Amino acid sequence: MNTYQVTLIGEGIYLIFEPAEDVCMYLVVGEKKAALIDGGMGTGNLPGLVDELTYLPVLPVLTHGHGDHYLGMLSYAMIYLDEADIPLIRSDYEAERKEAEAEGESLPPLPGLLPLSELTDEDRRIDLGGRHLRIIPIPGHTPGSVGFLLEEDRILFSGDGLTYNVWMQLPESSPLEDYLRTLQDLRPIAGDFDRIYTGHSQTPFEAGHLEKVIRLIQKVIDEPFGTPVEEPFPAIEATGDGCVVTYRL
Ligand SMILES: [Zn+2]
Repeated sequence: MNTYQVTLIGEGIYLIFEPAEDVCMYLVVGEKKAALIDGGMGTGNLPGLVDELTYLPVLPVLTHGHGDHYLGMLSYAMIYLDEADIPLIRSDYEAERKEAEAEGESLPPLPGLLPLSELTDEDRRIDLGGRHLRIIPIPGHTPGSVGFLLEEDRILFSGDGLTYNVWMQLPESSPLEDYLRTLQDLRPIAGDFDRIYTGHSQTPFEAGHLEKVIRLIQKVIDEPFGTPVEEPFPAIEATGDGCVVTYRL
């Protein structure tokens, strides 16, 4: 099996799937620059693959600071993410580094971490030349989770912030009430995208997925329900309307 599987999902828009870890990354190529959205686990040479897909300068940007989204980017000099996730990525990296050390392996050092605001204009957009990625805050799964709205192509890359099974059981996840407000705040931009590509599914969701998750979270807040799960953390998994939320006991 190849380390990465590449699918063209639009002109100059690549979905890079890492089967070993079931994660998705995206390369969006503009006229002047390209953005690599997330880096997966790094089981292969991701920067090498990206260089085969574009000769333009590449901006490595993160939807959030979890290991399965940034470890493939360790050979870049800089990584850009929301400031609120910088403490998380540092502690996550430290845990990964120790784990590697315990197995007699070593990790490359963590690249420089810069806030996404270094890349954006006054409208929170990254200009790739003919293409713009608008930063959409989606705090909840982690404090600094963001989505990238590719305006011209009407695609929202949402990472783990808005996905099939939203993991809200982690220590860094917010209370469901706060996450519900986050999602309700997305309503004004819901008309700006047709497809949602997430961090762990090769199939996109329709824009209506947002309302489905809002309904499910509201239901769980009104009257908690679901099935207990033990792995990887004890939590409750509630399913409804084609989506899942996993939340703390
Ligand atoms: Zn995550």
